[in-house]
Amino acid sequence: MPRPIEALIHADALAHNLARARAAAPGARVFAVVKANAYGHGIERAYPGLRGADGFALLDLAEAERIRALGWRGPVLLLEGCFEARDLELCSRLDLWHAVSHEAQIDWLAAHKTHRPHHVFLKLNSGMNRLGFRPEAYRAAWARLDALPQVGEIALMTHFADADAPGGIEQPLAAFAAATQGLPGERSLANSAATLRHAHAPEVAGDWVRAGILCYGGVPDYPEHDSAHWGLRPAMTLRASMLAVQALRPGDAVGYGSTFTAAEPMRIGVVACGYADGYPRHCGTDAPVLVDGVRTRLVGRVSMDMLTVDLGPVPAARAGSEVTLWGQGPGGAVLPIDEVARCAGTIGYELMCALAQRVPTRVVGGAGM
Ligand SMILES: *Cc1c(COP(=O)(O)O)cnc(C)c1O
Repeated sequence: MPRPIEALIHADALAHNLARARAAAPGARVFAVVKANAYGHGIERAYPGLRGADGFALLDLAEAERIRALGWRGPVLLLEGCFEARDLELCSRLDLWHAVSHEAQIDWLAAHKTHRPHHVFLKLNSGMNRLGFRPEAYRAAWARLDALPQVGEIALMTHFADADAPGGIEQPLAAFAAATQGLPGERSLANSAATLRHAHAPEVAGDWVRAGILCYGGVPDYPEHDSAHWGLRPAMTLRASMLAVQALRPGDAVGYGSTFTAAEPMRIGVVACGYADGYPRHCGTDAPVLVDGVRTRLVGRVSMDMLTVDLGPVPAARAGSEVTLWGQGPGGAVLPIDEVARCAGTIGYELMCALAQRVPTRVVGGAGM
């Protein structure tokens, strides 16, 4: 028997969350962002739930090839564009749209031989200071691209640093409006946080939103808001079985480092999930978990292959009980990944992306359409 742990990818939840993005940004088309192997869900596994998107956005050329291999003929955007000149050959061959955020990428285009003019997204650095042309250099870059026969459509793009924070987009939105004023072309500004919080405004929704974490049911502005507030459903469940039950006497300690000691008699469950499965070791005593759909907590340290949980609230639990580490539990119970991430001092994004290879994963919940 394989080790009793698995991850489920919920196609119906992906489709539901995508619909939330559409509802939040009326009039805009939606790129489902599937970088980092669809935030750890697996591109091929996420595809059935997300195929209703208007386009897919990602970083890695190999991932773009995988999307095309699935039969997707619609838009595919490389969010960081090409990393070297010869990447343009793949863009031509697979008809990939690509971001242009520095001069060298324009030089490569100018030297590229193609019959098919490329659809590019010219990126403005509106204050995040990672990638993109500064406002004062933006129009010159646009003019250079516009003069190239290798370039067809030029869309205008920026990315917000603080869209998850109150008032976080005012200044970059103004910078984008000023830098792009009078330029033709489609606009793309909003990530998940900006889509949920601000895309009711047409100038934020633009022509394309780029929805990443929200597609997967993660909340970009947790804990200010939670998944119930935004109407998002977990697209990934990590679940495992209980391997054993231990009865502790007062003074008995649990796990490496003996960080938890029972104050009174208690039952704990030993679960077949550890940090080598992608469960964060930074979660310790009191991190939330569901046992048979009932909410309880971790006790002691997470080890490589196991963790231990308090069975106080679930007296009927026994070896073989179902333990939900995050996502959808039995009986409609939900444990949002955001809550677990917070206990580990991180964000849901990181936990999803870190789901380990060794965890068997399958798609459930219909075709999602
Ligand atoms: C990752 C990424 C997104 C999606 O961000 P979320 O917060 O997951 O919605 C959007 N745009 C760009 C440029 C990105 O790199």
